[in-house]
Amino acid sequence: MLYFDYTATTPIDDEVLETFVNVEKNFFANSSSLHKLGQRSNYLFEKAIEEIKTVLEMKDHNIVFTANATEANNLAIYGIVLKSSRGKIITTKIEHPSVYEVYKDLERKGYETVFLDIDKEGIINLKQLENIMDKDTILVSIMWVNNIIGSIQPIKKVIEILKKYPRAKLHVDCVQGLGKIVPDFAFEDIDLLTLSGHKIYCPKGVGALIYRKQIELEKRLYGSLSQYGVKPGTISISLATALCKGLKKYIPLTKKHYLQVKQLNQYLREGLLKLDYLILNSGENASPYVLSLSLKGINGETLVHFLESQDVYVSTGSACSSKLKKPERTVYCLTNSLERANSTIRISLSHLTTLLEIDRLLEILEKAKNV
Ligand code: PMP
Repeated sequence: MLYFDYTATTPIDDEVLETFVNVEKNFFANSSSLHKLGQRSNYLFEKAIEEIKTVLEMKDHNIVFTANATEANNLAIYGIVLKSSRGKIITTKIEHPSVYEVYKDLERKGYETVFLDIDKEGIINLKQLENIMDKDTILVSIMWVNNIIGSIQPIKKVIEILKKYPRAKLHVDCVQGLGKIVPDFAFEDIDLLTLSGHKIYCPKGVGALIYRKQIELEKRLYGSLSQYGVKPGTISISLATALCKGLKKYIPLTKKHYLQVKQLNQYLREGLLKLDYLILNSGENASPYVLSLSLKGINGETLVHFLESQDVYVSTGSACSSKLKKPERTVYCLTNSLERANSTIRISLSHLTTLLEIDRLLEILEKAKNV
């Protein structure tokens, strides 16, 4: 099997799985229970929180564990915006649906909503952001690394711009950047940060919303008071500790893995340039983990299924929207071409990918031009 869909999800790391199983078996008591067993679970939970805050250097933030990044993005955006009955909210045209569709909903509810444009590399225009920001702006949500084309947004500069507007909170979807790209900004300068476990070798079913302690989020769920009432309900200590284990293991390896994947990406790009039915959508400075392509004269889905028949796994766009059969929104914003947006595939890499696997992929793609 040749797996090239690491942006959609990653396989679980053995040590992370071991932590999960160990905690699930040996610390099954409810961390809210007052008895000794409950308190043992709670101790592990609190320890995981402290360790995650340390590894991300976000000591002044709260952590709320969620089911995934989709839930974290929803809780963050609604949590901030629904505190005010009006206000300006800003995002980009290329966010993941779990941000984009929430903004669309808030637009329908009457909030003044701005979707920032992107340039030919998939990057926002900071001047446009500066011109649009005003004292009524309550939230800016900008992803760090795009999940379709891999463009990396200038979060450091966005943080600078927002400093002039203390009312405006900054939310950053860090799902495709964390553990992959070395940040040139400090996570602690972000008001609300989203991450997802299954994109970084942790289990599916766990993500996190990490937000500044001073922020009070409007509740979307009602129940117990656990997790500040933002995500009430019984906590999975095993998922929280497994996420913690994964972050402690993979964050320090970010640079090493980045350099490795950068080489793989260059090798892949050189090979792809020889195939004249493919056009690269991802820019040179994009994350090396993601490579978006459009196909001349072949439908993206047809190619994905041909590759699947050869035991090679890539995706058309994001896994979340690939069943909708709509033009790829990000590729459309980037190229302004419906043809290119209707015929994309995404190849995504990992430090687990080898040069041999890329050679094999290139051979199969060579055969695919006749499908
Ligand atoms: N944001 C980005 C940038 C993503 O790539 C994804 C996953 N495709 C999500 C959010 C949603 O993540 P999850 O699957 O954990 O809900």
